[in-house]
Amino acid sequence: MKEYFKNTFEALYTVLVGMKITFKHLFVPSVTIQYPDVKPKMPERARNRLFVNMDDCIGCDQCARACPVNCISIETLKSTPDDSPGETSQGKKKALWVTKFDIDIAKCCFCSLCVYPCPTECIKMTQVYEFSEFEREDLLYRFATLTPSEIAEKQKKFEEFTAAKEAEKLAAAKAKVEKPKPVVEKKVDPNTDKKAE
Ligand code: SF4
Ligand code: SF4
Repeated sequence: MKEYFKNTFEALYTVLVGMKITFKHLFVPSVTIQYPDVKPKMPERARNRLFVNMDDCIGCDQCARACPVNCISIETLKSTPDDSPGETSQGKKKALWVTKFDIDIAKCCFCSLCVYPCPTECIKMTQVYEFSEFEREDLLYRFATLTPSEIAEKQKKFEEFTAAKEAEKLAAAKAKVEKPKPVVEKKVDPNTDKKAE
């Protein structure tokens, strides 16, 4: 009988101790958040989804060369004097049209190595960390803004420009070959019977 009361007392005591701890925590500020309804604030230097501001991209390829997993793919086209891609927001003149700028974010390891070498600071890590997709292809981000018809038009312009330059060069070379060399007459000195210089 004594044992029975002892066990009952111990059971009640343990429950009360537990309840005391629970009650105390009712007044402690919560450390958890109701994600996804409440989003955590990311630290300033957090590495998340990449973004490229194409208005400032000069197509220099430095980011692609720095990427350790080759997930950036860039293609460019030289501009012609009558069709310039303009300037960056920092006033740097662009010499190339960026016809392709793809980032395969499925391969990206978020190392941020592509961000540091960018001379115009147009490739950045953003605060966006929720970008899962059902289809793998949807993780291929295409940043280039030119349409296929615009690319074809610029390609044609560049080809015409280079063809005209080549023709110009060829004509100049031909004119140089065809121009007769001036004949320099050598005078003979009657006293020495030698040709004067
Ligand atoms: S963060 Fe790293 S892996 Fe991702 S694109 Fe940039 S360099 Fe490549
Ligand atoms: S390094 Fe910057 S400017 Fe150069 S291609 Fe990459 S994003 Fe564009």
